Amino acid sequence: MILKGYTKKIFNSECNPACEGVHCIAKLDQDIAEVLPYLSAALGGYEYLNNPPAVTFKAHGKPIAVQASQIAINALRSEAEADKILSWLQREINEAWENRSRIEPCYEGAPKPNLIEVLKHLPKTNCQKCNQPTCMVFAVRITEGNLAADDCPILDKEQGNRIGEYMGRFDMEKYYSWLRP
Ligand code: SF4
Repeated sequence: MILKGYTKKIFNSECNPACEGVHCIAKLDQDIAEVLPYLSAALGGYEYLNNPPAVTFKAHGKPIAVQASQIAINALRSEAEADKILSWLQREINEAWENRSRIEPCYEGAPKPNLIEVLKHLPKTNCQKCNQPTCMVFAVRITEGNLAADDCPILDKEQGNRIGEYMGRFDMEKYYSWLRP
């Protein structure tokens, strides 16, 4: 067992105390840096960072970040929900550690769409008919999953299909799951 225990802290959002939901930080009793690439592989991490080691993903509908010495869970309904997810995560961490000889460690996050690959198919007139200030911003919004090619009213069908085909190469549900709590 690599993770034997933790100390949990529950708090409201400092930037918006009126918002519903709570956040949770669990300080870990053991350093779990070594298990993180195995945990990322087991749970389908959205992003893996090497220095300092950390993995982010979404589970139980919540954005979760696991670092060597702490776990952060956002947008929780209650402390009871935090307890449930922390218990589950402790089991997952220990199982990933025990099974590490059978898991291919993952040191990368899910592939992300490239802004320039989207921008090159846009008209680049900056006409703002999409309610975005520039085509560049529009391209950013596409790569974030907040707009689609057909939100540009002057884009021709062929270019729109090219953007759609490009964006279709990515596992967008996995990618966007972290961006959309
Ligand atoms: S409507 Fe299309 S061409 Fe005009 S700014 Fe938006 S993305 Fe660019």
